[in-house]
Amino acid sequence: MAFKWLKRNKRQPRSEPPGKQQLPEQIEREQFQHPQNQYRRPPESNADLSHDLEIEPSETRERIGYFKRLKKRLSKTRKSFSDGFDKIFSGKNKIDDDVLEELEELLITSDIGVQTTIDLIQRISNAKITDIAELKTVLQREILSILKSHPRATAAFKSTPHVIMVVGVNGVGKTTTIGKIAAAYRAAGNSVLIAAADTFRAAAIEQLMIWAERADAEFVKHKENADPAAVAFDAVAAAEARGCDVVLIDTAGRLHTKVNLMEELKKIKRTIAKQIAGAPQEILLVLDATTGQNALSQAKLFNEALNVTGLALTKLDGTAKGGIVVGICGALNVPLQYIGIGENIEDLRPFDPEQFVEALF
Ligand code: GDP
Ligand code: MG
Repeated sequence: MAFKWLKRNKRQPRSEPPGKQQLPEQIEREQFQHPQNQYRRPPESNADLSHDLEIEPSETRERIGYFKRLKKRLSKTRKSFSDGFDKIFSGKNKIDDDVLEELEELLITSDIGVQTTIDLIQRISNAKITDIAELKTVLQREILSILKSHPRATAAFKSTPHVIMVVGVNGVGKTTTIGKIAAAYRAAGNSVLIAAADTFRAAAIEQLMIWAERADAEFVKHKENADPAAVAFDAVAAAEARGCDVVLIDTAGRLHTKVNLMEELKKIKRTIAKQIAGAPQEILLVLDATTGQNALSQAKLFNEALNVTGLALTKLDGTAKGGIVVGICGALNVPLQYIGIGENIEDLRPFDPEQFVEALF
């Protein structure tokens, strides 16, 4: 249904989230909504859904605005692709080995990765096109097919509290992503609790608290250097007692103690599972798009230790190598759930393969 995203959940926000006005209405809210929408209240009078004809044009406008913003934020990668194509196409009208070699180079330098590039070149060869003008269309189609054959994250959650443990190395954007996800869930009418289980530095706790305030989420913290598993335990217990819908658990990401980090994360996971059977329902791994192929190694490491359920790829606005999205989907079997396209609260998107490819070419 066209306006599903406008509907509220069983709980109305206790107050309007402070950052809510900044949130684009177009955030795919159904992604953040509790499925038991029989409890949802009717829409507000200023958003009377019975007047579909009146609302449709503005929704269309908003969707266009939403897409434009995505396109703008991916402009570095788009430009690098289009410059690369111009170079390949200049003075040529037929596809020969040289063209395929240059294309291969372009794909590898955009961080699509060697294996996925070989796969794409093979698909293009199999398509048996001769006209160079068709090359872009076929590439676009094959990239989309890779992205779409990748497993998708399930959109809705089944039980509450729905616990999301957020992991990843230092600086990738865990804390920022938690703030953005919290804001989106709040805007969809869910109650949210954020737990500061990155107890390594007091500043990390402080930074997360600011995000919790911005997103109008509840916040659970202990002192600096406290046991992260104890913070997670308290947070989950508090969420159960207060009837919170979503719990987001921030964790530390210092890599120099790799084994200890993984053991610490496993302990947090076990502690949560002891408190609520089936939790954490999500283990979201945050990866930084600007780190290129390194992100793939991180994903393998974290997945082995924790069975990651989804990925968030941040900082796509800051790189010309957005091909990493294709590399990740080609090489990993974990759903790419979110992409980060900026530092603001609204700069997180559920990953949509069609929109992504359209924004890229
Ligand atoms: P953490 O150490 O994993 O918790 O990372 P932080 O959340 O503290 O983020 C590290 C830096 O990356 C901060 O300056 C964020 O503002 C920035 N950041 C996070 N996500 C994005 C994004 O999608 N785009 C851009 N440009 N910056 C981001
Ligand atoms: Mg952090």
